[in-house]
Amino acid sequence: MAKSIEYFLECVGPGWRPTVKECLEKIIPLGAEIQQVKEKFGGLRVYYRGRHVDHDKVNQQIRLAEMKCETTCEDCGAPGEVRDNRGWLRCLCDQHLTERENIAKIME
Ligand SMILES: [Zn+2]
Repeated sequence: MAKSIEYFLECVGPGWRPTVKECLEKIIPLGAEIQQVKEKFGGLRVYYRGRHVDHDKVNQQIRLAEMKCETTCEDCGAPGEVRDNRGWLRCLCDQHLTERENIAKIME
């Protein structure tokens, strides 16, 4: 049985979920079987398969979602950018980058 959209939304931060939801709601009716949704190097990745899929249309929607996430804080959805947080690339706004840096300092 195919996993639900909600399952895949849990795979990324709350700030990205509206974008991912919109994307999945567009590409699943096109026949895409979603395999995995994840954050990698600060960017969104959506993996799918499907034999009878209009790959151009599906890839176009995924590319749009990826581009949106590149400038959206994964934590809160505010405008953000991909930053290097101690070797971890994450797309964050100023506030959440600062919060993560502070948490990292406490952990040391
Ligand atoms: Zn944020």
